[in-house]
Amino acid sequence: MTAVVPQAAPAAATPHQPMVEAIEVHKRFGSLEVLNGVTMSVERGQVVCLLGPSGSGKSTLLRCINHLEKVDAGMIRVAGETVGYREKNGRLSELREKEVATQRRKVGMVFQRFNLFPHMTALENVMEAPTQVARRSNADARREAIDLLGQVGLADKAETYPAQLSGGQQQRVAIARALAMSPEVMLFDEPTSALDPELVGDVLDVMRALAENGMTMIVVTHEIGFAREVADVAVFMDGGVVVEQGDPRQVLMHPAEERTRSFLSKVL
Ligand code: ADP
Ligand code: MG
Repeated sequence: MTAVVPQAAPAAATPHQPMVEAIEVHKRFGSLEVLNGVTMSVERGQVVCLLGPSGSGKSTLLRCINHLEKVDAGMIRVAGETVGYREKNGRLSELREKEVATQRRKVGMVFQRFNLFPHMTALENVMEAPTQVARRSNADARREAIDLLGQVGLADKAETYPAQLSGGQQQRVAIARALAMSPEVMLFDEPTSALDPELVGDVLDVMRALAENGMTMIVVTHEIGFAREVADVAVFMDGGVVVEQGDPRQVLMHPAEERTRSFLSKVL
């Protein structure tokens, strides 16, 4: 029998497809326009740092990308799929709840507050979604969870409960937990803001290693040093719009816009 070798599509025929694409996204809460036409694009393997004053809409944008919020207008695509919708013959129809859950698995999210399950060990926290949601076998999930805890430098903490871990260690477990579902993109919402300063470095190191391994990441952070060293693109938001974006050295060291300059003078 001859093996069937899948033919790769010729490169020219493959349309360019960003990993995450937000197009003219609008989102309001009541009369408050929180996102006022946000357009941005993240390539596969890119790290984008999202900066901006409190209330500028950064968390809301991440939550829309992860379908924790629904956009009012515009659209978001993740890995080519329209978030919340199915595209058929050029028409969009809304996904059912279960389909949304499947779509959401492409996106891993890490919050400022780690929200680990307190009654589960680090290992059990990481195994939870793969076994309960993805229906992986216990043995497989355990093997992978141990591997992931090793990647975040916590191989020796597998049997430890969250309360016995430092904030930085808990956040690294949260990162391992998000990675356990093999997301295509990772979203970080101020992952180090709740940490004591001496614990920030270890978390940023794990994120830097992830970036070096090619993970696509959108990181909301006030860690300007991290943004400058790790990000491919820095995006500055204010008032629900992208004020400027580009090479982090440009945006963070020589911003073109007064609003960016004023913000940076406060956080640096
Ligand atoms: P950032 O993360 O940049 O600080 P957010 O996206 O959290 O900004 O919030 C932007 C604005 O939207 C804020 O004024 C906030 O109070 C408001 N907001 C966020 N979520 C909600 C919600 N669920 N209901 C009402 N207002 C909200
Ligand atoms: Mg926020």
